[in-house]
Amino acid sequence: MKVLWAPWRMGYILSNQNDNGCIFCPGKHRQNDENRLILGIGPLTLVMMNKFPYNNGHLLVAPVRHVPGLEHLSSDEVLDLMLMVRRSIELLKENMNPEGFNVGLNLGHVAGAGMEDHMHFHIVPRWKGDTNYMTVLGDVRVIPEHIQETYRKLLPFFNPSK
Ligand SMILES: [Zn+2]
Repeated sequence: MKVLWAPWRMGYILSNQNDNGCIFCPGKHRQNDENRLILGIGPLTLVMMNKFPYNNGHLLVAPVRHVPGLEHLSSDEVLDLMLMVRRSIELLKENMNPEGFNVGLNLGHVAGAGMEDHMHFHIVPRWKGDTNYMTVLGDVRVIPEHIQETYRKLLPFFNPSK
C-alpha cells in the first residue's frame, strides 16, 4: 500500500490549533468539537472520527490525558477506554453494518503512530471486498461517504444531548 496519507497527516498536524500541538487535547478550542469531529468526550475518554480515514467510519478512541502509552494510565482510565472501544464497535455495527473490524494501537513512531505522544486506539470498520476495491484503484483509498455526513449520522448515538 502506498503511503498516500503521509501528506494528509502533515495537513492534520498543521491544521491543529491546540495549545500543545496535539489533535486529541482540547486546549482552548473546546468549542470546536464539531470541526475536530469529536463524537463524544467524557472525563477520562474521548472518541473522534479520523479526518484522514483508512476506511469509512474510522474512529479514534483516546484517553483525555496526554500520555504516550497504556502503562501511563490508571486502571480506571484503561477500563473507561476499553468500554469506549466496545461502545464504538457496537454503535458502528448498528449504524454502518460492517462485516468486521480492525482495532489497534500503534505505539511509537517506528510502529507507525502519527500522534505518538498521545496514545489512541484505531477502530476501522471493514466490509467484504473493501481492500480489493482499493487495490483495483491503484492503492487509492476510496471513502464513499463524506466524512461530515458520517459524523452527523453517528453524533446523536455517541452524544444523545446533541
Ligand atoms: Zn494530547
